[in-house]
Amino acid sequence: MLGGTFDPVHIGHLRSAIELRDALVLDRVHMVPARMPPHRATPGVDAEQRAIMLALGIADTPGLYVDDREIRREGPSYSTATLASLREELGPHARLVMALGYDAYLHLADWHEPQRLFELAHVVVVDRPDHRQPLPMALETLIAGRDVASVDALMQSPAGGLLHLSLPTRMAISATAIRERLQRGASVRYLLPEAVERYLLARRLYQ
Ligand code: ATP
Repeated sequence: MLGGTFDPVHIGHLRSAIELRDALVLDRVHMVPARMPPHRATPGVDAEQRAIMLALGIADTPGLYVDDREIRREGPSYSTATLASLREELGPHARLVMALGYDAYLHLADWHEPQRLFELAHVVVVDRPDHRQPLPMALETLIAGRDVASVDALMQSPAGGLLHLSLPTRMAISATAIRERLQRGASVRYLLPEAVERYLLARRLYQ
């Protein structure tokens, strides 16, 4: 599960999803757009449009899927609820992984029911070149004893582990920087898939 606002989806998200799929030998990567992210301002572009852009970005990429369960659900988009519904579908023995970038990981202890995240899934943290900071105390406490050293060790159990991954291609691309570029009329070519660029320019999104 790779959740996010995807406001808009960019090459950093998509390339990371593929490299996660390969590094962890995943059957599927569920990319889950948040309808109402609990810890940040509600995006200016509605969830349906963000999901359309995500689908355009993924196109026919094997193993990557738009999962719209947070859009269909009422209330704040809590990851525990999303993981619980995936767990119910996949059963107690499936290995379930929640992947997130280092910037999002830094705030994990402030999420809704953070301990429960680890009961439902493993957490895999992806390095981002533009983010490096020491961990807050509450996060140190949350992750105590959960670190595992390898993918093999992680995949011995269905949930509960923490693994840091440095994926082969690290990209300093953020949706914030893309929105800023669009607002001042600068080019976003090659920062996101061409179909996504065409979609958002045609609708004057973020301008
Ligand atoms: P924003 O700039 O609006 O915060 P973002 O680019 O960080 O957006 P999100 O939709 O918030 O994108 O990110 C969804 C998930 O993807 C988060 O876990 C985030 O850390 C991760 N992510 C985003 N960009 C990258 C990137 N370039 N490389 C690796 N992971 C990324």
